[in-house]
Amino acid sequence: MGQIDLRGMTKVFGERGSEIIAVDDIDLTIEDGEFLVLVGPSGCGKSTTLRCIAGLEEVTHGDIVLDGTDITDEKPKNRNIAMVFQNYALYPHMTAEENMAFGLKMTTDLGEDEISVKVQEAAEMMGIQDLLDDKPGELSGGQQQRVALGRAIVREPEVFLMDEPLSNLDAKLRTTMRTELQDLQQRLDTTTVYVTHDQTEAMTMGDRIVVLNEGTIQQVGTPLECYQQPNNKFVAGFIGSPSMNFVDVVNDGQVLTHEAFTYELSDAMASELQDVDDAFVLGIRPEDIRITNEANDHNAIRIEPTVVEPVGDLTYVHFELGDTQLTATVSGDVPIQIGTDLEVIFPEDRIHLFDSETGEAIKNSQREVRSVPS
Ligand code: ATP
Repeated sequence: MGQIDLRGMTKVFGERGSEIIAVDDIDLTIEDGEFLVLVGPSGCGKSTTLRCIAGLEEVTHGDIVLDGTDITDEKPKNRNIAMVFQNYALYPHMTAEENMAFGLKMTTDLGEDEISVKVQEAAEMMGIQDLLDDKPGELSGGQQQRVALGRAIVREPEVFLMDEPLSNLDAKLRTTMRTELQDLQQRLDTTTVYVTHDQTEAMTMGDRIVVLNEGTIQQVGTPLECYQQPNNKFVAGFIGSPSMNFVDVVNDGQVLTHEAFTYELSDAMASELQDVDDAFVLGIRPEDIRITNEANDHNAIRIEPTVVEPVGDLTYVHFELGDTQLTATVSGDVPIQIGTDLEVIFPEDRIHLFDSETGEAIKNSQREVRSVPS
């Protein structure tokens, strides 16, 4: 078992008058066995949330409940939770084996033989059997992180907490370790809360992701829900790469007008928007912008590429509409040249609309859920 309930959890740092609300009244249930990713920009409160769950920070208000037991005031060592840090936090004077065994020696009554068996098992799982006699200084970053993970695994905790555990690794190793970690988590079936500022990591690893901003939850959902049905402009802009494009538009009932283009709405869309404010923000993902050859295609917009970035299978095409910079992701097979105009289309079923004051989603794109071809 390893269900965590955060109830109104708040963490305030600093003195009265100069307080920083790092985590603001968070309500969240993390299911037993779930891989939950906390994602958001620097300073949004991800690490503080994790450290509160671990007991490394005292919460200011609210409760933390593990499997129905309130652990808010429990010491970290009594929480049956293991944390893995970005900087590995290994003891430099101990071998990998000693590092992995240390926690068990300190917190359990297990004998040396039993501890040794557990360490061997975890080392096998992490593929580091041959490194057990080495000290951290003799190991690469990736190997040190495997030892740190092994140290967490031997404790057989109810919950793993991982704070940006892969961010000190190079890009290739990070990708490999991502897959390994997911595989490991599925095999162990242990509730895992994983912090990252990297939306790709969040999208690829999480059963569900929690998008945080300024200490508050913006959305909790599966990666696809957050991508397809963002609650607000913040989530829409944070999830997805390159980021969603945003342009301010005014609605006269049938046509959306921007300083650089007009966009005729279908009757269905126009009637859907009739009760909405006149001014809002239109969002379109780079991968949803289509190139067309037909200048007189319905709602075609003429653009001039300002920067073209080929990355192989795809090409990122940057352009301006009035004062707004936009990006389109197109097939790498299409030859695009700077200075040669193109016609692009924002398909109506791919448009998102957001309230210009609050940023709340008014309407999200309508993607078809397709089945796997047989
Ligand atoms: P990052 O990705 O940069 O680590 P984060 O999302 O993990 O950011 P936190 O480290 O949780 O963010 O910090 C949230 C806010 O709390 C920030 O404004 C930070 O400056 C502040 N903060 C964190 N720890 C402390 C502390 N010990 N004392 C004072 N303020 C703190």
